[in-house]
Amino acid sequence: MFDFELDRAAAWISDGGFSSVALQFPEGLKVRAEEVAGILSDRTGAEMIIVGYQCYGACDLFDYKGVADALIHYGHSPIPCLGSDPNVLYVESRSDARIGPEVMESLKALPERVGILAAVQYIGLIPGAKAMLEASGRKVLVGTGDGRICHPGQVLGCNCTAAESVSSDVDAFLFIGEGDFHPLAAVLGAGRDVLVLNPVSGEVRDMSPLRDRILRRRFMAIQSARSARSFLVIVCTKAGQRRDAEADRIVRLLRADGRKAFKVLMEEVTPAALMAYRADAYVNTGCPRIAMDDSATYSKPMLTVTEAEILLGQRDWDGYEFDQIRS
Ligand code: SF4
Repeated sequence: MFDFELDRAAAWISDGGFSSVALQFPEGLKVRAEEVAGILSDRTGAEMIIVGYQCYGACDLFDYKGVADALIHYGHSPIPCLGSDPNVLYVESRSDARIGPEVMESLKALPERVGILAAVQYIGLIPGAKAMLEASGRKVLVGTGDGRICHPGQVLGCNCTAAESVSSDVDAFLFIGEGDFHPLAAVLGAGRDVLVLNPVSGEVRDMSPLRDRILRRRFMAIQSARSARSFLVIVCTKAGQRRDAEADRIVRLLRADGRKAFKVLMEEVTPAALMAYRADAYVNTGCPRIAMDDSATYSKPMLTVTEAEILLGQRDWDGYEFDQIRS
């Protein structure tokens, strides 16, 4: 179960004197939106407005001004480098899952020097996991990320700088969380093997096979883009995804390589939004996970920034780097 911190949210609304509040949920938590809106409305008397747009990260904070007095953003931590707004409350929706000593049997493959990482919902489990691994005689490190990262050990789908900060001092990482989205960022970015511990099911799995599969796909995407003569370089206008300077640099490099290239500004990067254009290929400077995870849904090759650098001879395949959005 995820904690929606209803007491804290209701007190924040009442203390702030807000008469209307926009509620923004990521896709996986929208199923609870009406229930949360009903409870907060009953407790505070304020009008709740559910934001129906798709939301995948705090990079995509809803602009509530003109719609409501305040915003509650669920399911993500703040991105510190984007600044703060006293009328925005983040509720990380932490899980109440626990890790028991029985998982140690499944973790015995971990080497002696281990880094621990987690998605924000499970960040509170890091200290207990650290203590258990240390009790087994291992050296355990929890890294600090850059200005995009709110908590030690936290990984975003586009940022694993918390792993990078300790990767030279560990031989593998333990990632606590569900799904592949965040640990894939860790295994691609940290340059170390990653074991995932799902604290809900107790399952432990190795990310290496998926990493290798994704890398094979990315190699093929770069090869497919080699014959492209015209490119659209996508700039996503969401505050936490906008990388104009990177886009300008890639446009310059493409043109210097004899290819046509234009920037295109987009709010939502989807196959339908790109369908009308005639470019042969895309470079997406917004969320790097769209190219990496959703490439099969696009009819033309889509590269990340670092993959475009490989295409253009700025780095070689052996220097493949996960395209992180850094602060
Ligand atoms: S840019 Fe992509 S991976 Fe990064 S926080 Fe936003 S949605 Fe998540």
